[in-house]
Amino acid sequence: MLANYHTHTPRCSHADGSEREYVEQAIRAGYAELGFSDHSPYLFDGEYRSRIRMLPEQLGDYCAVLQALQKEYADRIRLRIGLECEFYPRFFGDLVSFLRDYPVSYLILGQHALRNELDGPWTGRPTAEEADLIQYCRQTTEAMETGLFTYFAHPDIINFVGDGAVYDRHIRALCRRARDLEIPLEINLLGMQEGKQYPNPAFWRIAGEEGCTAVLGADAHSPDAVRNDEYEARARALADRFGVPILELLEDRQFRPVHP
Ligand SMILES: [Zn+2]
Ligand SMILES: [Zn+2]
Repeated sequence: MLANYHTHTPRCSHADGSEREYVEQAIRAGYAELGFSDHSPYLFDGEYRSRIRMLPEQLGDYCAVLQALQKEYADRIRLRIGLECEFYPRFFGDLVSFLRDYPVSYLILGQHALRNELDGPWTGRPTAEEADLIQYCRQTTEAMETGLFTYFAHPDIINFVGDGAVYDRHIRALCRRARDLEIPLEINLLGMQEGKQYPNPAFWRIAGEEGCTAVLGADAHSPDAVRNDEYEARARALADRFGVPILELLEDRQFRPVHP
């Protein structure tokens, strides 16, 4: 790999290691670029506190630490400041307004809940309901259409265990939209390593048939996971098998800064 754009920090409360350790590991791996994309803060209403993401008041420190490292390591590696972010329609407008004040240069779409964390189930929960699949596809399609997302992380996280023909119909439409909008889909190495429901070969077969492109994402929650040769090789074999081209390095135009 020449780059990894899916990297967490301990601010999300389920990752380890300092930002510097991730950077050093990326340099050892020979990467040209490392993108940080910790779980975005979200502005919810009421008493709800998400336990899988940084708090809004932590975003300033996240950006400051990464900007300092960008300068310090400028001659060794290019660092990018991003966030992994769900599209929660009820709260997304407020989030975008909030993010505009920070130097966040890209968002990756990682849809961990249907509707949102208050109103819907986690997308990893097995479901045979077509309505859940429809909701997932509709919501993530709308997300891609905002023009704010650089790529779609683990697009195959929806854990649909119902009829294969139903899955094919809705996922095919989703993949076509991603292709038309030129949004790459991520083959997630962490899911592979942890034996999750993704990467899902049924998804990648459709993605290949529909002419989608892929990126490899380490989804590193610890510095040693920034590079993993074994799972990288398996991810490449998956892409090869279904004829999905891998984008090794994203182009500048593919980064979509939230702030004006
Ligand atoms: Zn995470
Ligand atoms: Zn992630």
